[in-house]
Amino acid sequence: MKINVLTTFTDMFKAITGNSVTGRAVAGGLVDIDLLDIRDFTKDKHNSTDDMPFGGGCGMVMTTQPVFDCLRSIEGVREHPIIYMSPRGKIMDEELIRSLAVSEEFTVLCGHYEGVDQRILDYWNIREVSIGDYILTGGELPAMVLMDSVLRFVPGVLGNECSVEDESIYSGLLEADQYTRPRIYEGLEVPEVLASGDHRKIRIWKLMQSMELTAERRPDLFRKWMEGDPDLSGFTKKERKEILALAQKLINTL
Ligand code: SAM
Repeated sequence: MKINVLTTFTDMFKAITGNSVTGRAVAGGLVDIDLLDIRDFTKDKHNSTDDMPFGGGCGMVMTTQPVFDCLRSIEGVREHPIIYMSPRGKIMDEELIRSLAVSEEFTVLCGHYEGVDQRILDYWNIREVSIGDYILTGGELPAMVLMDSVLRFVPGVLGNECSVEDESIYSGLLEADQYTRPRIYEGLEVPEVLASGDHRKIRIWKLMQSMELTAERRPDLFRKWMEGDPDLSGFTKKERKEILALAQKLINTL
């Protein structure tokens, strides 16, 4: 996968290119992140990337020419999605992440100041994507949120032992509480069942705990999970009865 990033703060991306899971994906050649400094494409002597807004208003607006030239420098840029991180956009969700994860290339534009000249978005047919209902100083952190979440879906990035599909949200539920050693820490104990070694019991405990947690914290998600007719074929008849009884109880509390 190739990700082109247009930014005026290339250094910020070391957080993603040089660390942890995403850093290993870059080092291992699973993803090629091309950081393009918009300032390198400026033509005036001050290397300005912004100017005053037409019609007045506070702050500055990112100007057309450097961004146009930067986009033009990417071969075949129009053949792949181009995204502008923006609080005006549709809020990023699983559907968008999964669709980007299967594209071989995409481009992300990071705004700054008060945003970018609208002609950039119109001419290049750019989709605006928000990471939530709040305002950040620049598009770099939102771009890294997008890139990190997309990369987790790229085969090989997480290694074989982990599956994104088992995670909160993607599994349809929130993940059950997790614990590690020691079994007792300052008198605080790990739930007995998790240390029992009984894998059937552990599995059903985790599912039921996930259901309770989801119904409490994310009733919207729990309703969706129930409507999706969850696959319980791996459980015995008795276990299924127990799970469905809990589901019914939880649905009645929503
Ligand atoms: N004046 C803009 C507005 O009211 O819509 C906000 C500009 S913001 C200070 C600067 C840049 O940060 C934006 O151009 C965008 O790239 C990025 N940004 C800020 N909040 C964001 C969010 N919630 N999601 C995605 N990008 C965001």
